[in-house]
Amino acid sequence: MAFVELRGISKRYDTVTALQEVSIAVEAGEFFTLLGPSGCGKTTLLRTIAGFIRQNDGEVLVGGSSIDRLPPHRRDTGMVFQDYAIFPHMSVADNVAFGLRNRQVARADIKDRVASALQTVHLSDHESRMPHELSGGQQQRVGLARAMVIRPQVLLMDEPLSNLDAKLRIELREDIRDIQHGLGITTIYVTHDQEEALVVSDRICIMNQGRIEQVGTPWQVYKQPETRFVASFVGNMNFMDRLPEGVTGGSALPDANGAADMQVRLEGVADGSAVAAIRPEDVLIVGDGGHPAGDRRQSSELRFDATIETVTFTGREAEYFVRTSNDIGLAVHVTRPTEALVAAAGAPVTLALPVESLLFFDGKTEKRI
Ligand code: ATP
Repeated sequence: MAFVELRGISKRYDTVTALQEVSIAVEAGEFFTLLGPSGCGKTTLLRTIAGFIRQNDGEVLVGGSSIDRLPPHRRDTGMVFQDYAIFPHMSVADNVAFGLRNRQVARADIKDRVASALQTVHLSDHESRMPHELSGGQQQRVGLARAMVIRPQVLLMDEPLSNLDAKLRIELREDIRDIQHGLGITTIYVTHDQEEALVVSDRICIMNQGRIEQVGTPWQVYKQPETRFVASFVGNMNFMDRLPEGVTGGSALPDANGAADMQVRLEGVADGSAVAAIRPEDVLIVGDGGHPAGDRRQSSELRFDATIETVTFTGREAEYFVRTSNDIGLAVHVTRPTEALVAAAGAPVTLALPVESLLFFDGKTEKRI
């Protein structure tokens, strides 16, 4: 049974529908992330669970019981905010102890629990510091310790890393994931950063304009996106609303049933009823280091010619942007580029698209077919 369950939640503000019949089931101990662009309704949904916002329709259940009638402080949730929201006039230890004092926990217990929470967030030797003596990352660790120490049934985090610089974000997201796994506390996390979502989550719910597009593991949302929106929002994706000129590969398609199926999809792209998609790292440059040349190729693939427009070489990798003669632009990511190809802007090149890496979306519904 799901531990946190949202059933048909809708929320309207005057003219804006922020949430439209959102239903989600989060398992006990799960790290569940709400991911989507600005304004898609993530924060509204999180605040509805916390009880700060009252939904127009639908129910919120925790452990099988409705919590809709409970005020926020009786919902047994811990909240970590984007702007830390720690008290500036209290020491680190007092900030963390605050929720325990409010709950009238015994003094000795408070001391132990604060010490243990500070240890978990690596701030044991900062307990008497004041917030202004801490870095942004450390202040957010205090926010995390303060939410955790009350041992809530559900931990809610609203973009906790977005005020931190890039390096700290990466460091702290790994800590948050490890702490969450260690404590096994059911966590609902909001972010608009798709990479962060992939790194920390057990499952991700991708939202768009108040609706759910897909719920799945990081692998599923990246490798098997159910809609064009998910495909473009999570990672980079090339879309082709027509076939590259000179596509060959009919003979390279396997004889098995898959071939006929693939043919139908490709015809759909050709007649405009479908869109094909492929990740930059799945596009192969024939003859380049990573690609098994000629007959040694492993899988069926589509081949066609293009021109390299730009090359960005970062040492370990290279990003190409290529264009076909019928004006389809494709990003290509190569992990081990050859020296010749790094200096190849303007050069003709043959590309190979392995058929198992191709995705297809219906041109109208934008759902995967
Ligand atoms: P962000 O990442 O920018 O925080 P979000 O996905 O969390 O975005 P919400 O803050 O939940 O989105 O907002 C969803 C929609 O509801 C937006 O269109 C927003 O403008 C609208 N909205 C949010 N709060 C209110 C409010 N108090 N009054 C009117 N409209 C609101």
